[in-house]
This record gives sequence, structure tokens and C-alpha cells, in this order.
Amino acid sequence: MSAKVVQTRCECQATLFAELTADRCVVGGYAARAGKRETAPAHSINKDGANFDVGWLCPYCGRNVMRTFAATA
Ligand SMILES: [Zn+2]
Repeated sequence: MSAKVVQTRCECQATLFAELTADRCVVGGYAARAGKRETAPAHSINKDGANFDVGWLCPYCGRNVMRTFAATA
């Protein structure tokens, strides 16, 4: 079971999700748009800082989407 799921919106209106372990490693990424769900490659950066970044490659529009999350949230 993963520790948490973070999500964000891509500019193409897809919603990007990443499942994280307790130490903020990404175990799975996916994207949802218009009722469909696709696998989205995702990875985490700066896992040991006060904040960490998660990057996705959106499968719908091909953008690289990077978002910063607070580690304590
Ligand atoms: Zn997109």
C-alpha cells in the first residue's frame, strides 16, 4: 500500500496522479482526462528536502509537468 497520492492539473486539463511511498519514491503515475485513464511516467526529485518535486510526462499532450509539494503535507 502506498503512503500517499499527489495530484495536479496539466495545462491540457488532464489530472495527473502519482502514488508515493513513505520515503517519496514514485511507485506509479497515471493521468485521467474525459473519463479515461492512462499511464503517465512520473518521478520524484529532492526527496529528502523540506519540499519535493514530482515530474510527469503527460500522455495526452506530451508536456513535462513539474509540481512542488510540501513534504509535511
Ligand atoms: Zn497534458
